Amino acid sequence: MATYIVNTGPEKEVHRTAYTKPACNIHLISPYNRLDTDADYTVLYPSIYDGCKHCYESKHRK
Ligand SMILES: [Zn+2]
Repeated sequence: MATYIVNTGPEKEVHRTAYTKPACNIHLISPYNRLDTDADYTVLYPSIYDGCKHCYESKHRK
């Protein structure tokens, strides 16, 4: 299991796999916009990616 689920679509949001909640609506992320990775995109691309307010609040800015 990858550490993060990244929504690469317009949302540009990073979820923490082990802490996802129903409100994250992971099932609504299109397979084309979903990336399962161990790389933290909020660190790699801080100006583009935001932490999910439900499961990655420490990195949530918007
Ligand atoms: Zn989330």
